[in-house]
Amino acid sequence: MSKIISFKFRIYPNKIQREKIDYNIECSRFIYNKLLDSRIYNYGKYVQYLKRCKKIGIKKNPKQFYSFCKLASVKQIKDSYKFLKKADSLALCAEYNNLKHAFENFFLKLRKFPKHKTRKDKKSYITSFVNNNIRIEKNRIRLPKIGFVKIKVHRALPSNYKIKRVIVLNKACSEYFVNIIFEVPEEIKQTKMEKVVGLDFKIGDIFISSDFEKPEYIMPYRKAIERLVKLQKIQKNKKKFSKNWYKILRKIQNTHKKISDKRKDFLHKLSYDLSKKYDVVCIENLSMVEISQKLGNGNNTYDTSYYKFTTMLKYKLESLGKKLVKIDKWYPSSKLCSNCGHKKEDLTLDDRVYHCTNCGISIDRDINAAINIRNEGIRNFIESLNV
Ligand SMILES: [Zn+2]
Repeated sequence: MSKIISFKFRIYPNKIQREKIDYNIECSRFIYNKLLDSRIYNYGKYVQYLKRCKKIGIKKNPKQFYSFCKLASVKQIKDSYKFLKKADSLALCAEYNNLKHAFENFFLKLRKFPKHKTRKDKKSYITSFVNNNIRIEKNRIRLPKIGFVKIKVHRALPSNYKIKRVIVLNKACSEYFVNIIFEVPEEIKQTKMEKVVGLDFKIGDIFISSDFEKPEYIMPYRKAIERLVKLQKIQKNKKKFSKNWYKILRKIQNTHKKISDKRKDFLHKLSYDLSKKYDVVCIENLSMVEISQKLGNGNNTYDTSYYKFTTMLKYKLESLGKKLVKIDKWYPSSKLCSNCGHKKEDLTLDDRVYHCTNCGISIDRDINAAINIRNEGIRNFIESLNV
């Protein structure tokens, strides 16, 4: 058994390498759009064919659909656009697979029709591991068609890894990254259940735990928002697409990046600490939409933070052979008494303290919910072991 994990590292390409990376990105985008064009063109021909069948009165052949709607091959496009030969051929093939996948999603999962890629889209390309063409040596990484690029390996690489793919990214502030996708053998560990905690999500603090703990959530945006508003005002007064306009734009992008970096850093540390401390962590199984409904203000920053936090927590726990247990979202965690199990139907959102009429206990509303989540999580977890 093996599993797929991905690590992101910053790379420091020199000027020539930067140009080559950007060239690969541009060519990937170009071939994606050309392939999409070919597909749309073929589909147009298919529609014409159907019309003709109707006119002449012959039966249509369903097999024709597939022959008409095929993508052009990478080779066909490479032959007509010679400049693509200088780009990383694996990256071009990856785009072919990407588009194929997008169409499968469109037909089978009813996703949106694939769109053309524009310059505004994420700047990245994918290259795959073939014949040892990608390898990491000390502080350098070898990439096909680029050569050895300086890399900062800020964390230990997994043991016995095999590189599958590498996504090379050019971020808005002309910082370059690689997202390396590894295949590593999976060890099966028995999850212990000595330390179990329940988390109740809460706006402002991220969560309250059943051990009466809540993280000190830093607010990186509060200060930055003032700066952003100021910058946007300045930008409004500049001539659009002028030199100064771009200058301010870069400042805005930088501020956004700093905010998200700070938040990400905080969430990583928080989830790391939890995964070290506990064997099993129980949370409510909420989707993005439900989280924003629960929090009630539709604040994007909060929504994504919560969602990111749960995904981080999940993979960090699993990498240590521990478990994140998600309990049913309909479980009435705040209405039940954590002491005796009595259900208080008339609990309102304003009741900050849970007062039980059955056993007489008074407890903070959120801590009561967190304890309930933990108890329900333990029950679910034991049940899953017995199956
Ligand atoms: Zn009670």
